[in-house]
Amino acid sequence: MRVPDLREAGDIAGSRELSRRSVPTTYVPMKNAIYYSLAAAFAEEKGAGCIIGGHNADDRRLFEDTSEEFFGSLQKALTAGSPRLRRNGLKILRPLKDLGKAEVVALAAGIGVPLELTWSCHRAGAEHCWRCDGCRRRVEAFAAAGVEDPLKSKKV
Ligand SMILES: [Zn+2]
Repeated sequence: MRVPDLREAGDIAGSRELSRRSVPTTYVPMKNAIYYSLAAAFAEEKGAGCIIGGHNADDRRLFEDTSEEFFGSLQKALTAGSPRLRRNGLKILRPLKDLGKAEVVALAAGIGVPLELTWSCHRAGAEHCWRCDGCRRRVEAFAAAGVEDPLKSKKV
């Protein structure tokens, strides 16, 4: 399935007129509504009863489309539009929602997640750029967690 060409907000970013909070430059308009709708289509097709997202508490602070209100409303909308999702009791689960990014890194390292396979960069490419907001936040989180980033240590 091809996903539409989504881009960061550009002129929406930083506007307080559209949001109670300032919008980070990395905000992609309606990204989570689109991705979770695609996940719901897949869940409906496969008969799944849940969609699991990896948003953390830092995301919720920055992006309104990771808020409790957003996911509660989205879950209601998705189940209202699909008898099969309603019958399966579709739930959107976010097990990391109360952990900060550094806590997520520490947890992942502690349970043996192959961190070299994770991706944080907001730019297209075969490797992380280490300059974008996603990369900067990754570096900060690994440092705060006291975990060596296997991707950073491979970079020379
Ligand atoms: Zn990057």
